[in-house]
Amino acid sequence: MIKLENVNKWYGDYHALVDITEEISQGEVVVVCGPSGSGKSTLIRTINRLEPIQKGRILVDGQDIHGQGVDVNAMRSRIGFVFQQFNLFPHLTALENCTLAPTRLLKLPRQEAHELAMSLLNRVGLADKASAYPAQLSGGQQQRVAIARALAMKPPVMLFDEPTSALDPEMVGEVLQAMKGLARDGMTMVVVTHEMGFARDVSNRVLFMDQGRVLERTTPERFFSRPEHPRARKFLADVL
Ligand code: ATP
Ligand code: MG
Repeated sequence: MIKLENVNKWYGDYHALVDITEEISQGEVVVVCGPSGSGKSTLIRTINRLEPIQKGRILVDGQDIHGQGVDVNAMRSRIGFVFQQFNLFPHLTALENCTLAPTRLLKLPRQEAHELAMSLLNRVGLADKASAYPAQLSGGQQQRVAIARALAMKPPVMLFDEPTSALDPEMVGEVLQAMKGLARDGMTMVVVTHEMGFARDVSNRVLFMDQGRVLERTTPERFFSRPEHPRARKFLADVL
């Protein structure tokens, strides 16, 4: 589903991603963790071309997404992305946030887009907030709308970059719950997060990054019980 082949990225002279080769299968939930500045956001942002790469290849669903002639908007509409800051359109209701792209880009008829958006808002537990504006919603609710909005494009893959780290602690659970539901329904997900409980309970695989490299790739069971790399051990000692 997602294939990274020898991916390298530089910001000027700084080598931010070093020889990343990974394969993520359909339905897999992969958590990416590691210390601040290790390249987690950079990595996940290359998977829908929010960041260019200088070497290597990234295939999503068979498409070389950094290739020449790629329709970037069409490609991005097939790869859902949820940011730390929810970035909802403030002048649109929760429902309108979810119907905008499907009507504009997928050309779904209004009624169909409306029904789809309602079912997605329902799925993230917000059917009763459909006509609320972002400013009238809590952070956790806004982030759940952002998830529903991404899902409205029916992407086969969802990417999350620290989706709960801008939230007050009491709102983290509801967002993780919505993500857990997605995972259970078989969505292919790459999740950058410091939520080690989510990694342990929901992920199929953990990638540990440091200094632009993936130092460890393993099951959550192994990662939490006997991490191999000393840096991973230190990271876990610090966060757990
Ligand atoms: P955090 O946990 O703090 O979000 P991260 O693992 O997501 O960290 P990245 O944001 O991917 O880390 O950054 C990796 C490295 O690349 C850092 O050293 C950062 O300073 C550098 N970097 C990131 N974005 C840019 C940029 N636009 N220009 C130059 N350097 C950058
Ligand atoms: Mg980051």
